[in-house]
Amino acid sequence: MEDFKTIIEPFRIKMVEQIQVSTKEQRKQYLKDAHYNTFLLDSEKVMIDFLTDSGTSAMSANQWAGIMQGDESYAGASSWHKMRKAVYDLTGHEFMLPTHQGRAAERILYGYLGGVGKTFISNTHFDTTRANIEFSGAEAIDIPIEEGKLPELYHPFKGNIDLLLLEKTILEKGAENVAGVILTVTNNSGGGQPVSMENAKGVAAICKKYHVKYFLDCCRIAENAYFIKHREAGYENKTYKEIAQELFSLTDGSIMSAKKDALVNMGGFLTLKDETIAIACKNLLIITEGFSTYGGLSGRDMEAIAIGLKEVFESDYLHYRIRSTAFLGEKLRAMGVPLMWPIGGHAVYIDAKALYNQIPVNEYPGQALVCELYVTGGIRSCEIGSVMFGKYDENKNLIPASMELVRLAIPRRVYTQSHIEYVIEVFEKIMQNKDVVKGIKIIEEPAFLRHFTSKFQQL
Ligand SMILES: *Cc1c(COP(=O)(O)O)cnc(C)c1O
Repeated sequence: MEDFKTIIEPFRIKMVEQIQVSTKEQRKQYLKDAHYNTFLLDSEKVMIDFLTDSGTSAMSANQWAGIMQGDESYAGASSWHKMRKAVYDLTGHEFMLPTHQGRAAERILYGYLGGVGKTFISNTHFDTTRANIEFSGAEAIDIPIEEGKLPELYHPFKGNIDLLLLEKTILEKGAENVAGVILTVTNNSGGGQPVSMENAKGVAAICKKYHVKYFLDCCRIAENAYFIKHREAGYENKTYKEIAQELFSLTDGSIMSAKKDALVNMGGFLTLKDETIAIACKNLLIITEGFSTYGGLSGRDMEAIAIGLKEVFESDYLHYRIRSTAFLGEKLRAMGVPLMWPIGGHAVYIDAKALYNQIPVNEYPGQALVCELYVTGGIRSCEIGSVMFGKYDENKNLIPASMELVRLAIPRRVYTQSHIEYVIEVFEKIMQNKDVVKGIKIIEEPAFLRHFTSKFQQL
């Protein structure tokens, strides 16, 4: 495949799902009805859904076959053993708790380790991670490397954590108050950018020195492994899976949203080395998710996860996955669309602040672009900027996020080359209109995770 420019999808399509084609006039009305928040849009009104890569993967014929073999026994199901084996094979962590999705694992682990006076430190906490930590009363500190904050700058591992700041923060807070260091691979909020093995090892050394727990938020572990193999010296001849195993071996535990790199529509898990923490978490699991051999999952879900965790490391799949995301990003960049560079694993992140420099951050340029993409082409995307991460000071003035990004997250194995060509054409129109686009005002918002349910108005 390497000798050809065209990346073919390394699969054939056996079942199709209709896309409802709409007109621009219809979409204007749909968006108004949804209060300019694309999370409030019905999916039938969307033509290309880049809202998230979470739970939107197409499963393989093998996974569907596995689903028919799900063992739905309450305790000790064979499907549980298959999932446990697949996870253990990857992580080497003795304890595995299945949950209905990643955030349930986060609530259990970070709720248990967190609380008032505790601190978590990360390259970047994902939104649900931060919400669960803050909800427990603890504090979540993001310390990505400086290069990670500069959208235009090339760096092979922009997802890295700042190791000097990590040590400094642990000393400042007192190691006994640091409930954990969470390395998010790849760094979702920071641009889908990878973390290097060298950086992951650096975190391990610091955590060991200060006896601080080290967790991997491993939602996109296979995608991260791809970048390590192709960008980091010494890993050329390792398999993607061996690289992932090495990343896990450095840590005390992990949190996984199986809706990403386990190629399923629902599911997650938590792994731990430490028995004491595992027992405490297991109690919480049983109270809110389910018995320890199924947690929040049915047997068929566990079958599909066990199979997906293997498929995701296949080299033809990973090559297609990473290269096709880059294809979209490279075309947009050539057209002059400002974006996070280099292109990350699962998504293309547009720098909306640079695209719409006439819109101030308190009028949310990212949300303005989200609305434009939908009206122009029926494309649904997600703001990752001040709508998602903005806060207010005591005078109700916005404390903006460090970047105003819009994420085009690509579902796994779902869209083809011609869908992507269409998206590129929509961006040609976005570029023609960019100087006349206006900002957005929030008219209603909840206290946590406001991007999900806020209502907006166009200015
Ligand atoms: C999706 C995600 C989560 C949360 O997982 P859910 O399955 O959506 O609850 C946590 N961390 C990262 C990095 C994610 O991408």
